Amino acid sequence: MHPDVQEILISEEEIAGKVRELAAGISEDYRGKSVLMVGIIKGAVIFLSDLIRYIEVPVNIDFMAVSSYGKVSKSSGVVKILKDLDQSIENRNVIVVEDIVDTGLTLKYMLENLTTRKPASLKTCTLLDKPSRRKVKVVPDYNGFTIPDKFVVGYGLDYAENYRNLREICVLKPEVYTKG
Ligand code: 5GP
Repeated sequence: MHPDVQEILISEEEIAGKVRELAAGISEDYRGKSVLMVGIIKGAVIFLSDLIRYIEVPVNIDFMAVSSYGKVSKSSGVVKILKDLDQSIENRNVIVVEDIVDTGLTLKYMLENLTTRKPASLKTCTLLDKPSRRKVKVVPDYNGFTIPDKFVVGYGLDYAENYRNLREICVLKPEVYTKG
């Protein structure tokens, strides 16, 4: 275990099993169609790359990078697009892939924005869901794990850009946050 980790919330094996389960569900639901998976950079990158390898319908991928505009907009849900999609999603079956849904503001913004681009269908898939922190009503169509209100890292999720490479979903030791 990494020395900064206090607790492993979800093991590598549990994640791998869940990724296959989610991919099987998506393959079933989109049988006879193709799907465009839109990953949100950077947190969803590892999840997306594992997920697509178990999806059995034709898959394309694209990425968006977003950030909230600072404190005020964190509560208002204004999100800035730092990198937009490379391709049109008109008439495509789109699944937005997130690492975690927390307040729901990011996902709500993404859904509103992408809806205006007229996809054939638009769904959401998240590895983790923290429903206790929700500020707006969004329910992911596919969810890996519902977790308690704890800040987690690993499997793509960071703290100050670190720990994305951990293979498990972890909670850090409190002193990590006070180290400066
Ligand atoms: P929301 O807009 O739903 O509040 O936030 C979603 C984003 O906040 C996620 O994509 C992620 O970047 C970040 N986030 C929320 N909770 C956590 C957490 O527990 N750990 C990490 N590393 N990021 C989180």
